[in-house]
Amino acid sequence: MPYSYDDQNIFAKILRGEIPNDTVLETEHTLAFNDIQPQAPVHVLVIPKGAYVCHDHFALEASDAEIIDFNRAVGQICSMKNLQPGEDGAGYRTIANAGEHGVQEVPHFHIHILGGRPLGRMLSGSG
Ligand code: AMP
Repeated sequence: MPYSYDDQNIFAKILRGEIPNDTVLETEHTLAFNDIQPQAPVHVLVIPKGAYVCHDHFALEASDAEIIDFNRAVGQICSMKNLQPGEDGAGYRTIANAGEHGVQEVPHFHIHILGGRPLGRMLSGSG
């Protein structure tokens, strides 16, 4: 399905430097910053710099370089924030909401990295 990207979304404005962000990591193709309304002690949003609406859009249309860069950034943030499950970190959750059923608020692809406390079951309630 062809996606239409709204360049007035808040993450597009962050990428253009029109509004500030609390940057955690910036690479050639990826920006990561703290969520403005954190749901856990660690709540980082990871976004590609390219104009992708949601995860499947990015997965199908981004270049190999963008996809590798994005995934390496996710790994780096888990390491930086000491989230890796094991002796030190206790684990984390990544979430990518998409569209109406996924309750995506910002139509620029992003992954939430949440951690720093027990996060409960994956889904709560029946919707
Ligand atoms: P989603 O429902 O997956 O689209 O989540 C969008 C996320 O963006 C929410 O967790 C918001 O708290 C977060 N958010 C919205 N505006 C900003 C902002 N200016 N800086 C950082 N995070 C933001």
